[in-house]
Amino acid sequence: MSYYVTTPIYYVNAEPHLGHAYSTIAADVLARHMRQRGEDVFFLTGTDEHGEPVAQAAEKLGLEPRELVDRNAPKFKELLPQINVSNDFFIRTSDPQHEARVQEIVQIVHDNGYVYEGTYEGWYCPKCADFKTELELGPGHTCPIHKIPLEREREENWFFKLSAFQGELEKLYGERQDFVRPKARYNEALSFVQGGLEDVSLSRPKLTWGVRLPWDPDQVMYVWFDALLNYVTALSYAREGEDLTERYWPAFHIIGKDILKFHAVYWPAFLMAAGYELPKGMFIHGYLLMEGHKMSKSLGNVLDPFEVIERFGADALRYYCFREVSFGQDGSVSAAGFEARYDAELANEYGNLASRTLAMIDRYRDAVVPRAEVDPDLAGGGDGLAGLEAKVCELLDRADLTQALEEIWKRIRRLNRYVEETRPWDLAKDEERDSQEPGRPRTRSGAGDRLDSVLYNLAEGLRVTTLLLTAYMPETGERMLGALGVEGREIQAFGAHRGGQSIERVPPLFPKIEAAAA
Ligand SMILES: [Zn+2]
Repeated sequence: MSYYVTTPIYYVNAEPHLGHAYSTIAADVLARHMRQRGEDVFFLTGTDEHGEPVAQAAEKLGLEPRELVDRNAPKFKELLPQINVSNDFFIRTSDPQHEARVQEIVQIVHDNGYVYEGTYEGWYCPKCADFKTELELGPGHTCPIHKIPLEREREENWFFKLSAFQGELEKLYGERQDFVRPKARYNEALSFVQGGLEDVSLSRPKLTWGVRLPWDPDQVMYVWFDALLNYVTALSYAREGEDLTERYWPAFHIIGKDILKFHAVYWPAFLMAAGYELPKGMFIHGYLLMEGHKMSKSLGNVLDPFEVIERFGADALRYYCFREVSFGQDGSVSAAGFEARYDAELANEYGNLASRTLAMIDRYRDAVVPRAEVDPDLAGGGDGLAGLEAKVCELLDRADLTQALEEIWKRIRRLNRYVEETRPWDLAKDEERDSQEPGRPRTRSGAGDRLDSVLYNLAEGLRVTTLLLTAYMPETGERMLGALGVEGREIQAFGAHRGGQSIERVPPLFPKIEAAAA
């Protein structure tokens, strides 16, 4: 099966920040997870480069728009390795191949009869590059997002017959309750549709920085349609000499809540008008709100993602974003919150479990995982290891990144309790004593068998949880799976591996913050 996941394309005028990293990491977790399930994955991200704001910014700097975007796009491209993102392609909407393909598709929409010429008059926000309907306006004709007074603009342009898709979109939302997730965003999109759809501007006159309409080159395409089409156009030229559209389309989109209307309403209508299959679905995430007043030990009081990466690695940031704030909702992040979870969860719970398990196998079993059976005590119960992989897969099918991580983490905690309950160090002492009894043959005592079982179960529990964590924390996952002597990266059930492999001890995966700061 193929799995195609996309991020929003980022507006090239901005400086990359945590919000960009957040959407991109989310898509990366899904892409990596699906690869581990053996899916044929394509993962796309990129930059949105046309439109009036870019032209204006370039003019201010005395540059051509092309020079400005060539200067800014690399900042977004360079962010990707820093946050350890495994995208298959990076699209820029100023790519000539994208522009040519956009022209072909918009010509189809025109030829199918969904385009007409008209006069537009309305309240225009140059920062959103969008006309606001009366319902969307803020007090005193302001942009609700940018809080700036809006200009009343009147112009001749081409319209897209969005209203023609009223029935089709209602049908879509009726039949596919999971088309937009989470449910609150689905309801928001549905009520927008039910409120009655008006035709929307497809093009704008006077602008030059954009894709020209093939039948009216004096007009450039409205930047939103140009941008949305990236999800389709990329597949036609991401691989030289190969068109991947058949292989990967339709996509699953990860987006932020600010661009819901474009993706959940305009985009499916436009695809229908062009005769394309609709997206598999989309997940709309909330905002990470910066909280700066809590004291932090090492990071200053504001969470700077680049500083976190530099000092603690990308994995810690990737983990924190989806652990602290439920994916899909708004929530606060802070430097103090980061440190608290880093120490309590990554260093103490996971890091400690890993180093204890490896150390005990090294010491008591010459660094070879014993061959034993699954311990029903550890497998069963609400936080037992049995069935974890199926649960996580089901949650990630719904892009529920936070709940999936919570399920994994419950098992990390269960494994730590298992160490305390079984006390392998006492079992080792008993085994030692038994083996030294005079006259007793040097066969395995009961304590020795029990120690084999406990060590095997710990290694196996760590293997399964780490395989699932690898999508979230790829560097840590690689190190730990290497240390555990695990060959493949495919997701497996608890007990699927029978032991017998050699392990290696590793330095602490997440050194405590006090130590790091010293
Ligand atoms: Zn605005």
